[in-house]
Amino acid sequence: MKIKNHRLMINDQEAVPYRPSPNKGGHIDPHEYLVMHFTAGASAESSINWLTNPAARASAHLVIGRDGGVTQLVPFDQRAWHAGRSEWANRVGLNSYSIGIELDNAGQLHRQGARWVTAFGRVIADDDVVIARHKNGGPEIGWHAFTERQLESAAEVAVLLVEKYRLLDVVGHDDIAPGRKTDPGPAFPMRSFQARVMGRRGDEVYRTTTALNIRSGPGTEHATLPGSPLPDGTQVIVLNSQGLWQFVDVLSPVNGEMDLQGWVHGRYLAPA
Ligand SMILES: [Zn+2]
Repeated sequence: MKIKNHRLMINDQEAVPYRPSPNKGGHIDPHEYLVMHFTAGASAESSINWLTNPAARASAHLVIGRDGGVTQLVPFDQRAWHAGRSEWANRVGLNSYSIGIELDNAGQLHRQGARWVTAFGRVIADDDVVIARHKNGGPEIGWHAFTERQLESAAEVAVLLVEKYRLLDVVGHDDIAPGRKTDPGPAFPMRSFQARVMGRRGDEVYRTTTALNIRSGPGTEHATLPGSPLPDGTQVIVLNSQGLWQFVDVLSPVNGEMDLQGWVHGRYLAPA
């Protein structure tokens, strides 16, 4: 696969199926994140039908079916309406800065007797259920598993998007809208997906060698983030870089800030 004119292509001539959604607006500027979702729907087709219906007031750039099939609804340079009220790394309203992928998946399940059942009443076989507590809280409960083909397809597309649009990271809807959203949830292997897509190695941990400002962009002209400065000795993973500036993921809460990501000057990082 490849990307041409902001469309996902199977080869030089042929694009993946395209079902244009009216639920879009404006240009993404700059591209920074890939946001992963589950549809909580009954099938890829029903979710595509809904996300191309003006009444939905929602969309995504891509929908990936359980068979791995990819359908595009919005060109990658235009804003899809997938994130809603959201915040991440000093950005508010992530639709303006991100590409959204919806994975066909029934989401959170509930117990009915001895069976796991979707919100729309379908029984899910135990083999297709992941039992887990959501990282944002809540009870230990069943979640619809993603399929291998679907995750493989998503990773393949994500690698292309990260490279083409120089994305800073992959995040979940549940990261950028915690409390409001639970997708893609605990059944989605976010850590390994990020590692594969961002080319991140597990041993790339650095520590700050001084109290270090963390900023919204790669340069001192960008504002410092809430949580700044990082205390001396803070452990971080480098996700991306621009010249001497490094975009880092802070591994523990600092100064009361969870999930802190931002730009620091690389001179003040040393291998942990
Ligand atoms: Zn979502």
